[in-house]
Amino acid sequence: MNRTQPILYIVIPCYNEQEVLPITAPLFLQKINDLSAAGKISPDSRILFVNDGSKDKTWEIIHSLAAADEHYLGISQSRNRGHQNAVLAGLMEAKSRCDITISIDCDGQDDINAMDGMVDAYREGCDVVYGVRSKRDTDTFFKRFTAESFYKLLNAMGAEVVYNHADYRLLSSRVLEEFAKFKEVNLFLRGMVPLVGFKSTCVTYERHERIAGESHYPLSKMLSLAFDGITSLSIKPIRFITGFGVFVALVSFIGVIWAIVEALLGATVSGWASMTSIICFVSGVQLICLGVIGEYIGKIYMETKHRPRYIISETTPNFGDVKEDAQ
Ligand code: UDP
Ligand code: MG
Repeated sequence: MNRTQPILYIVIPCYNEQEVLPITAPLFLQKINDLSAAGKISPDSRILFVNDGSKDKTWEIIHSLAAADEHYLGISQSRNRGHQNAVLAGLMEAKSRCDITISIDCDGQDDINAMDGMVDAYREGCDVVYGVRSKRDTDTFFKRFTAESFYKLLNAMGAEVVYNHADYRLLSSRVLEEFAKFKEVNLFLRGMVPLVGFKSTCVTYERHERIAGESHYPLSKMLSLAFDGITSLSIKPIRFITGFGVFVALVSFIGVIWAIVEALLGATVSGWASMTSIICFVSGVQLICLGVIGEYIGKIYMETKHRPRYIISETTPNFGDVKEDAQ
């Protein structure tokens, strides 16, 4: 492992980014050139675009970038698999070619200049450097509120994540080798990286507005990411259900005693309404419980299939051989 002049691969997932890629790609190249001119990284460093089954001209743009400058490399997933899988594909394909990777979105929202601090931290001995947003002034109130609730919910449910850290981070190849052994299909990278361990630190940066194009992370995708995060990393919801079940059982027990006492005192009124509401309530609770348990069983089902987590269909000519999924 080379700590003084590491080979850096910047891993960038791209999904329908034809508007923004021509603007941000040269910025990434500039960063690589600056860092290597300063002697902080090796000149063999590269920018690896992962096309996530884009339907627009993104892959063509990546191809022409790779033809124009050897620092640009591209791989393409066979279809759209989502941001997390795209990042994983890039990291796994990069890990044996470099000393460090930095994953970052391609829309220019994450401050590229935070990479200097990340590389410095690596050179000082850290293997994981999290990019953390210092503030969210540029986000709309709604995005800020939903995103912050997202972190709070995750932590409350036992999926520990670094607050305000998304997927902008430096990982050393040593961490990636260990990370490759985490075989799960339900990916929630920011919750999985802390499980790998190694010395880590944070670098803060300000998040900008998207340079062009629009977000591919609507509320629905964010909720499903949060749900994946919780159910992949923690069994707290199951414990919660058990606790809730015990509570409901206790309350029902008191209710039964009350009913018997009332009956013995001869004060019973035929309470159709109360009976119905109790039945509805209990069956509702049962359905929720079954649903959550079903969610875990669904996950077990998906995991037992051992499906490949990503499939590369094409690469730019300068990329060389792909390893396919790190089995
Ligand atoms: N992305 C991807 N696959 C998807 C959706 C998004 O690879 O299915 C990429 C996208 O190109 C971008 C990054 O993931 O580089 C983050 O997406 P976006 O900027 O739309 O999300 P936001 O920043 O609004 O949360
Ligand atoms: Mg974005």
